[in-house]
Amino acid sequence: MQETNIETRLHPANAELSRRIAVLLETLLEKEKTVEALQDSEKRYRRLFESAKDGILILDAETGSVVDVNPFLLQLLGYSYDALIGRYIWEIGVFKDIAASKEAFKILQDNEYIRYEDLPLEAFDGRPIAVEFVSNVYLVDHRKVIQCNIRDITARKRAEAEHKRLMAAVEQVEDAIVMTDAKGIIQFVNLAFERTTGYSREEAVGKSPRILKSGQQDESFYRDLWGTVSGGRTWVGRMVNKRKDGTLYTEESTVSPVRDASGRIVNYVGVQRDITEELRLAAQSQQARKMEAVGLLAGGVAHDYNNMLGVILGYTEMAMNKVEAAQPLHTDLQHILNAAKRSADITRQLLAFALKETIVPVALDLNTNVERILDMLRRLIREDINLAWMPAVGECPVKMDPIQVEQILMNLCLNARDAITGVGKVTIETGSVVIDEDYCANHPGFVPGKYVLLAVSDNGEGMDKEVLDHIFDPFFTTKEVGKGTGLGLSMVYGIVSQNNGFINVYSEPGEGTTFKIYLPWYANKAVETGTEIAAKIPPCLGETVMVVEDELSLLVIARTMLEKLGYSVLSAGSPGEAIGLAEKHAGEIRLVITDVVMPEMNGRELAERLHSLYPDMKILFTSGYTANVIGHKGVLDEGVSFIQKPYSMKDLAAKVREALRGT
Ligand code: ADP
Ligand code: MG
Repeated sequence: MQETNIETRLHPANAELSRRIAVLLETLLEKEKTVEALQDSEKRYRRLFESAKDGILILDAETGSVVDVNPFLLQLLGYSYDALIGRYIWEIGVFKDIAASKEAFKILQDNEYIRYEDLPLEAFDGRPIAVEFVSNVYLVDHRKVIQCNIRDITARKRAEAEHKRLMAAVEQVEDAIVMTDAKGIIQFVNLAFERTTGYSREEAVGKSPRILKSGQQDESFYRDLWGTVSGGRTWVGRMVNKRKDGTLYTEESTVSPVRDASGRIVNYVGVQRDITEELRLAAQSQQARKMEAVGLLAGGVAHDYNNMLGVILGYTEMAMNKVEAAQPLHTDLQHILNAAKRSADITRQLLAFALKETIVPVALDLNTNVERILDMLRRLIREDINLAWMPAVGECPVKMDPIQVEQILMNLCLNARDAITGVGKVTIETGSVVIDEDYCANHPGFVPGKYVLLAVSDNGEGMDKEVLDHIFDPFFTTKEVGKGTGLGLSMVYGIVSQNNGFINVYSEPGEGTTFKIYLPWYANKAVETGTEIAAKIPPCLGETVMVVEDELSLLVIARTMLEKLGYSVLSAGSPGEAIGLAEKHAGEIRLVITDVVMPEMNGRELAERLHSLYPDMKILFTSGYTANVIGHKGVLDEGVSFIQKPYSMKDLAAKVREALRGT
C-alpha cells in the first residue's frame, strides 16, 4: 500500500531510484528481520538454557574449559557462575568418575555421544549427588563444544531404594500378600504366599485367587467379600483355603481396594495370615481346660464317694470274718465286696482322670511292667483276639507309677477289643526313640529328647477324622449308653501329660488304629521291676498307732480294722483332738495314720506338730486325693508313706507294716 503511494506520488524519472530504494529498504528490513529472528531464537534458547530443570554445561571441546553453565547446574552443584567459567573441567573436582584428569577428559572429547545412567557427583560442599549424564559434541560457530546434560536422579534413586526396601519388607513378612487388578486377576504375590499356598509366583500370577477355593465357604460368602471390596470397603474375615497339595488351611484375611489418583479402584490387596496352627493350639488348650473342669468335678465327687466306699469295704470285710465261708451269707457278702471293689476301681479311674490321685512314680522298666500284666490284659480282651507282645531289646526305663502303666494299657486294650468284631489282633510294642528338633518342628507340642515308646495297635474298625478329633475329650464316646464312659482316653491323655510324655494316634476307617505313647527315657540307674503286693497280712507286734480322720464312719472302720489287726489304737476325729490325745498319752506312739484334707489343719501340719511330741513317730498319709496338699502336681515326696482311699484291711495291714519299718 505504502509502496504504491510512493510510486504514484513521485516523478517517473525518479521511479528507478525509488524502486532501488524500495529494494534496498526491503533488503534492509529483511536483514533486520533475520537479525531479530536470530536474536529471538538466541533468546529463546537462552531462556530454555536458563530455566531448564536439567543441568547444562558447555565445554570447549578442544581445551576442556567451561564455556557456559546454566543456573540449575550451579544450584545443584553449589558453585557460583564465576567459580566455574573458564576452569578446566578436571580442575573442578565435581566429575570425579569421568573427568578427573586431562586424560579422562579425552573420553568426552573422542565420543560424539556418551550416556551414563547413574553417575555419582560431588557437590561443592562434598554432598554426593546421583545424576544421569549425557554428553554431545557439536559445532557452534565453527567452534567445537561439548554439551553435557546433567539430570539429578537423587530423588528417583531414593524412591527406588524405598521401593526396594518396601519390596524386601513385603517379601519378608510372615503374612501372605496377594495383589490383583481391578478384575481380580493376580498380579503379584509375595514369598509368604508361595510358602503358605504352595503355588509359585509364576503359577499364581495371571490366575484368579479362586485357585485357593476350598469349597468350605458357599457362594454367598464370596459374594459378600467381593461386594464389600468392590464397594470400596475393606473386608476382614476368616476363611478356609486349599493349598496346591490339596490340604486345607485356615487364614485370617484382610482384602482392601486400592484407588488411583482419580479415585478409581485399580487393585485389590489381600493380606492373609495362616492361623491353622494357632487354632489347633487354642483347641488343645481348650481341651486341657475342659479336662480340668471335668476333673475338678469328678475329683470332688470321687472324694466323698471314696469315703463311703471305704466304709462299705471295711464293714463287709469284717462281717465276712464273722461268717463261716460255707454259709450263704458269706457268698452274699462276697458279692457286696466285689461290687464295692469294682466301684472303687471306677472312682480310681475318675481320680486318675482328674489327676487328683496321688501317684508314686518309681523308676521302672516298661518291658517288665507290661509283661507282668499281660495275662490280665489277655483275660480282659476276648479269646478270639490275639494279643501280641513285641518288647524292645534291652530295657525301657521310665519313671512313673506302675499303676499308671496298667491304666494306660487297660484302657487302650479295652478300646481295641471294642473296635474288633470277631477275630482280630492287638499288638503291644515297646521301643526307644530319639525325637529331634526337626520332628518337633512338624509336631507341635513335642519336646526333643530320648523317649520310651509304647505302642498299642489293633486291626479293628478304625476311626474317621471326626471321631479322631474328639477321642481325648472327656465323656466323648461312640459306644452305646452303658458301654462307654468316654473317660478312658481322656485318662490316658492325662497320665501321659502328667509324665511329660506325648501321644500320637494313627487311624483310618477300616484300617485299624495305632496309639503311640512317648514317655521320657529315665536315665537314672536302679530300675525297679515293679511293686510286689504282699499277699499275706503281715504280723502285728501290738504297737500303738493313732488314726486321725474327720469322716466319722471312716474313723470307726479304720479303728476297728487296726484293732482287729492287733494294734493298740488311739483315734481322733480332728487334728485338735489328735494333738490333745498325743499330749495326754503316757506311752509311745509309733505311727500316725492321718487324713490329708481336714477342716482345721491339714494332715501335713498335723504330722509336723505330732512329730515334735514324738520325734520317732512314723507317718502314713491317707486320702482320696491329695495332689494339692501332699506333693507337687500330685507327686508324693520320697520317704513319705501313703495309702489310697478306699483301702481294704489287707492293704492297710501291709501299708502300716511298711510305714513302721520306716521305708
Ligand atoms: P469309651 O471307650 O468309653 O468310649 P474312650 O475315651 O476310651 O471312651 O474312647 C473314646 C472313643 O474313641 C471311643 O468311643 C471310640 O469311638 C474311639 N476309639 C478309641 N480307641 C479306639 C480304637 N482302638 N479303635 C477305634 N475307635 C477307638
Ligand atoms: Mg475306652
